[in-house]
Amino acid sequence: MVRKKAKFEVEKGILLEHIQKAGLRRTSQRDLILEIFLGTEDHLTSEDLYSLVHKKDPSVGLTTVYRTLKLLTEAGLAREVGFGDGKTYYEHHYNHEHHDHMICTECGRVIEFFSPDIEALQDEMASNFGFRPTHHSLRMWGVCADCQVNTAESQSAPSGAQPRVRVKTAIN
Ligand SMILES: [Zn+2]
Ligand SMILES: [Zn+2]
Ligand SMILES: [Zn+2]
Repeated sequence: MVRKKAKFEVEKGILLEHIQKAGLRRTSQRDLILEIFLGTEDHLTSEDLYSLVHKKDPSVGLTTVYRTLKLLTEAGLAREVGFGDGKTYYEHHYNHEHHDHMICTECGRVIEFFSPDIEALQDEMASNFGFRPTHHSLRMWGVCADCQVNTAESQSAPSGAQPRVRVKTAIN
């Protein structure tokens, strides 16, 4: 994943074009939000991004961050992804290869992976049903390697820690 463009000029241009089409003004707050979003490789909720932005510029409100993330999504710079806890997470979309996710239900860690074999099998399965897939998102839930060690260590002691990702039955 190559991501070392001095200041995300290409992405800023894409956002600007989208903002102008939408009849909105370019603001330094939106540019800052975009910069910080592109500067992380995490999967962030709007609240997560807000707390990062707030450290740099306390005058930016949560609503602005939320609306900007929606703009980034419309412009094809960000992608919404759900991990089964009812929250909407955002990740980079522009110039990012397709990948799928494993989600740790203990610590909330999200692992990205890509397997050509799995991709090919999915296509094969779809064609068995005469189905033409437009996109897909493969997600696995479980316990990451670190958390397996931690659980083994504190087996007898009941843990008060709350898992960050609460898995519900319905998957969005
Ligand atoms: Zn895939
Ligand atoms: Zn974990
Ligand atoms: Zn991802």
